Formats: sequence, C-alpha cells, structure tokens
Amino acid sequence: MSINLSHFKEMLLLRKAELEKILFNIQNEIKDINSIETKDEADLAASNMDSGRNFQIYMKQKKELDEINEALKKIEEGTYGICEMCDEPINEERLRIKPYAKYCIICKEIMEKEQKNK
Ligand SMILES: [Zn+2]
Repeated sequence: MSINLSHFKEMLLLRKAELEKILFNIQNEIKDINSIETKDEADLAASNMDSGRNFQIYMKQKKELDEINEALKKIEEGTYGICEMCDEPINEERLRIKPYAKYCIICKEIMEKEQKNK
C-alpha cells in the first residue's frame, strides 16, 4: 500500500502557511519576542498574563510547525508515514487526521500509557 504523498504534502503546506500566519500575528502581539527563548513560561505568565497566554499558544503552534517541517523533510527523504518507534507504516486514516504524526496508533498509545505512569 502506498499513500498519496502529494495529497499529504499539500495538506502539510497549507497548515504550515496557516501556522506561520498565526505565529506572525502572535509575534506582533508579544513585545520582546526575541527574549522569548530565554525566559521560561512561568516568568512570562507572572510578569504579564496576556503575554503568558500568548506565549503558551505560541509555543503550541510553534511545536506543530516544527513537526510539520519534519514531516515535509520526511516526504523529501522518502520516510514519510513510517512510525519512528516500530518502523511500520502509519495508518492512512490517522495521517489524514494528523498528517505530521510520527508514530503509529499502537506506539502512541504505549507512549501515552508510559507518560501517565511516570
Ligand atoms: Zn509504531
């Protein structure tokens, strides 16, 4: 079974453009964006509630953008859609919901269980 790569690539690029727009807007809202990497979340939240909230949204979207970029790289390298844990192909239905998924559903569930037990 081979998945329709160009379809997923298109999905990823669309989402990437959307995220870059959101991140750009948040950057405009947060003053001092350059110091964002050095401050920790608690500091920011305490000093300014609004930037704290924006910062959390920013980091969440940024993380998604990073994952999308990684997925796009995998498309170029020909490893897209392969689970990073077990090397099995990730279910296409799962990729439709989350095109930048790194793990198959089985590995993801294992990881989530492990995280809960920590
Ligand atoms: Zn897996």
